[in-house]
Amino acid sequence: MAEQANTATQDSNASVDLVIVGGGMVGVALACALAPAGLRIRILESRAETPDSLIEALPALSAAGYDARVSALTCASQQLLTHVGAWPYMSAERVSPYTDMEVWDGRGRGHIHFGADELHEPCLGHIVENRVTLAALYRVMRSHDNITFSSAVEVLGVTPPDAADMRVLNLASGEQLRTPLLVAADGAHSRIRQLTGMGATEWDYGHHAIVTTIRSERPHQHSCWQRFTEDGPLALLPLAAPTPHTLSIVWSTSPEHARTLMELDEHAFCAALAESIEYRLGRIEWCDQRFLFPLRQRHAQHYVQAGLALVGDAAHTIHPLAGQGVNLGLLDAAALAEVLLDAHQRGESLGNERVLRRFQRLRRADNLETAAVMEGFRRLFDDLPAPLRLLRSSGMNLMDRLAPVKQHLMLMAMGLRGEVPRLARRPIRA
Ligand SMILES: Cc1cc2nc3c(=O)[nH]c(=O)nc-3n(C[C@H](O)[C@H](O)[C@H](O)COP(=O)(O)OP(=O)(O)OC[C@H]3O[C@@H](n4cnc5c(N)ncnc54)[C@H](O)[C@@H]3O)c2cc1C
Repeated sequence: MAEQANTATQDSNASVDLVIVGGGMVGVALACALAPAGLRIRILESRAETPDSLIEALPALSAAGYDARVSALTCASQQLLTHVGAWPYMSAERVSPYTDMEVWDGRGRGHIHFGADELHEPCLGHIVENRVTLAALYRVMRSHDNITFSSAVEVLGVTPPDAADMRVLNLASGEQLRTPLLVAADGAHSRIRQLTGMGATEWDYGHHAIVTTIRSERPHQHSCWQRFTEDGPLALLPLAAPTPHTLSIVWSTSPEHARTLMELDEHAFCAALAESIEYRLGRIEWCDQRFLFPLRQRHAQHYVQAGLALVGDAAHTIHPLAGQGVNLGLLDAAALAEVLLDAHQRGESLGNERVLRRFQRLRRADNLETAAVMEGFRRLFDDLPAPLRLLRSSGMNLMDRLAPVKQHLMLMAMGLRGEVPRLARRPIRA
């Protein structure tokens, strides 16, 4: 990988096969999946931090504590990360497999237990700190000479495709980049989505999420714990050794309640959390710094135009209640890589709208379905009258006993249902 400083370079009219705006998990995973085909790829990232600085800082950061931002990675995501070569770096750093998931209704008696053993699987997924995933992807990226990564970049404008089907990106540094394909992987507030006039439907969930790391009195037993109330879902996710008492939390609640919780001192916050989780893990003994995220649902009306594709949060954001956001983004990366690699092999132009529509067909319906299921779950736990609450609890308990329905839900949550892109598919077991 070549790193480029954010200055106008001698090569100020550079042309590459592909420009990816956004050097987060999804953008870099896409670059790593495409690089073995020899495509010339340029990644433009707005943050000043360089890949090398994260890679070098990671051991000290890990020794000092856990990243507040973690993701529950599905088997499909693990497969893609293995395919590109990032998973060995991640597992050498730290990943936390979880084998069980306890889900219950905080306002009733409904309860569902999901267990990996019901599917004869070693685990349901892994909780991984986002910086561990990103550093591993950066390491893979460094091994590819055909990826150039630029930090501290500001994209000022993007032209529509010209007569030669090339788009031109104007950067604040004065550099101009010509490319047949621009991929927006620049997150929920995607500047590229705005600059290219790609419309998105969005609405507020009326929830803010508090994330932090905590230590519990009782061990987490490699289980995820999720309690639903009309305020919103509260999830506790088990973190890797050295102790089985450390968990990451995502507490989604009304903005007013979230602000009140943020203002509590550590002792009072831990007490409120222990009570909210009904003391299933005993007392909460410690919590790290808390961060607050407003939650919005967004979905781009189209993922592609000629010479343009949106992936990851730039195309869609969903409620973190089932931890699917980055998993959907990584499946986007896998699907787009599959389509582009096939097109490259056939000699088709990467920016051809017909080629890009294949990617949209592979991913949009699946992403919409997941967003709809998440929305359904969220609404199911809205403030309901007592008889409907009873029905909800009975429904959960019934589902807990219906093995085929549970297995279907588990496979969906593991990213193993539906049309899984080739690069994220598990090898057939003998
Ligand atoms: C509280 C919370 C908990 C979550 N938990 C989970 C979970 O358990 N599991 C899960 O799958 N998902 C989870 N998610 C969602 C997940 O974090 C996102 O889906 C994921 O980070 C999206 O990755 P991305 O690479 O598309 O975008 P991002 O991670 O946002 O990366 C975008 C990159 O683009 C850069 N960028 C932004 N603007 C520009 C610009 N104009 N020019 C150049 N670069 C730019 C950014 O600096 C960043 O590096 C959670 C989200 C929240 C809010």
